[in-house]
Amino acid sequence: MANCFVPALGGGTAGSAVAARLSETEATVLLLEAGGSAPPESVVPFAWSPLLALGQASVSVASEPEDNAALSSPGRKNIAYFGRVIGGGSTVNGMLFVRGSGYDFDSWKDLGNEGWDYRSVLPYFKKLENYQAERTPSKEKYRGFAGPVSVSQVQRWGKLRSAIKAAAAELGVAFNTVGGKSNIGISWADCVCGQSLANHHRVSGQSLANHHRVSGQSLDNHHQITFDQQKRARGVEYKFKGQTHRVVATKEVVLSAGALFTPQLLMLSGVGPPQMLTEKGIEVVSALPGVGQNLDNHPGFGMQWRVKPGVTISIKDIFNPKTYIEYNLKRSGVLSESMGSMAHNFVNLGGGNPDWPDLDLPWTLAPSLPTLELEKKANTQLTVPHVLRDTLATRVVLMRPRSRGLVSLRSADVADLPLIRNNFFQDPYDLKLMVKGIRETFRVMNTTAMREILLPQPDTSLKACLRYGRDTDGYWECFVRHVVGQDAHHCCTAKMSPPTDPMGVVSPRLLVRGVSGLRVVDASVMPHVVSANTMASTYMVAEKASDMIKQDWGYPVQQLY
Ligand SMILES: Cc1cc2nc3c(=O)[nH]c(=O)nc-3n(C[C@H](O)[C@H](O)[C@H](O)COP(=O)(O)OP(=O)(O)OC[C@H]3O[C@@H](n4cnc5c(N)ncnc54)[C@H](O)[C@@H]3O)c2cc1C
Repeated sequence: MANCFVPALGGGTAGSAVAARLSETEATVLLLEAGGSAPPESVVPFAWSPLLALGQASVSVASEPEDNAALSSPGRKNIAYFGRVIGGGSTVNGMLFVRGSGYDFDSWKDLGNEGWDYRSVLPYFKKLENYQAERTPSKEKYRGFAGPVSVSQVQRWGKLRSAIKAAAAELGVAFNTVGGKSNIGISWADCVCGQSLANHHRVSGQSLANHHRVSGQSLDNHHQITFDQQKRARGVEYKFKGQTHRVVATKEVVLSAGALFTPQLLMLSGVGPPQMLTEKGIEVVSALPGVGQNLDNHPGFGMQWRVKPGVTISIKDIFNPKTYIEYNLKRSGVLSESMGSMAHNFVNLGGGNPDWPDLDLPWTLAPSLPTLELEKKANTQLTVPHVLRDTLATRVVLMRPRSRGLVSLRSADVADLPLIRNNFFQDPYDLKLMVKGIRETFRVMNTTAMREILLPQPDTSLKACLRYGRDTDGYWECFVRHVVGQDAHHCCTAKMSPPTDPMGVVSPRLLVRGVSGLRVVDASVMPHVVSANTMASTYMVAEKASDMIKQDWGYPVQQLY
């Protein structure tokens, strides 16, 4: 038995960041992480997928069969990946650093979460960031230059960049470069790609973690938060090298296991929907029906385009030994940049506030390869015609879905992966909006500027949908229902809310309802997903939560502007 100021469960994106900030005080912080150290290849920007997604640094979880989606996926299941490694998602992800729209955070506040509006969270985005660009007054208003997370822009692929810029001008679309309140328009992708433009490597939660930690294969995935008679979280029980250990929290316990495993650990510790807990034989400590509900994410899929040589990554580059020599000697070349998005196109096609995007239609550099997520027939029709050719991918990604899923327990055994039900397109509005996204993608790719870089396209029709007629809305709805996947942006399964919302799990100070001494700090506390990839906002949550914890325990916090 040991005493500890804060034991933190989960050393992922948020857990590493919060533990690093708390270590700035004299408090003892123990970080308990189910995964091991980051594998060496995780620092190579290009290597994130599929090397990491399929490697030992992550776990994959198949969703329950979808009712309205994944029609071309084996068993109608979507596969989701989660980092199981120090740094969590930030160690295995596509490294894109996108803050979200200021209107996302204003909406969080409008839902009753005081202190989470754009004005209040902007200083924390700035605090965490070390933006690798020239400091100008307009950039300084929005960007940070001294934080622990280095952020830079994709630099290569000049022909593609010129075409995108010219297409934006042709369409009269705003070119957005500063990362201000509205992210609407086309913008270059920011990436957590290292300390300098000449020396690209991944910056992850692992780089932040400078505290005592217990992690790795020898940390059995068996943890529980323990409560006393007054329902105060007293500490954490875990197994290490086969032995059970108990850590007493002298102040509080921080739970940062991510949007899938945080609700699992809450439920296993007796905090969750009472009927389900009782059915699984778990004693109820706090009856919170919202635990695991409200699963939000970004449904999305890619469209491949055959392009002229030199426009994008060629498959020949990937197999060329020079690529590896260039990266090893100079940290430059193809491997020095993420194969994720190189430019975003945030649009609003559903109405309402025109500055608040509901779709992202990004350009990505990922080469066309058959995927395990599609059945052979769909792969043959959609991806095989492009394999070994120079291709560019565009994606259609829904930013603010109306449908919500859930996370639940399969059993009371922590070793059983939780159950995910996505419920994609349960609300038909989401499907209609994705079809609008496809139409907008064709409009963009049909500009003179984009046609300059395209070659004639092969027929990649999805035969199962041709009964609706080529290029009809019916065809595209069917297409989306067949191929949609998700962007691993799971969140919102322990959402913050005011006490009036019966489905809320944590308060706006991220304290779990119905118990004391337990705080959740990760992507699960978001009330709804942000209109952007989720890592930057998760880091922001961790930065803000660290100050809350310091304030609550009488430590000084830095004044932010
Ligand atoms: C393949 C992939 C690609 C992505 N690409 C991008 C991108 O390019 N840009 C972007 O912005 N976002 C991206 N994301 C999403 C982003 O990484 C996540 O939103 C973010 O990491 C969530 O952070 P978190 O702290 O909530 O959870 P995580 O980072 O998942 O951390 C949770 C941690 O808890 C640990 N854990 C789980 N259970 C236990 C337990 N019982 N005991 C102890 N520890 C436990 C896990 O091992 C993990 O380390 C991607 C995610 C994935 C998986």
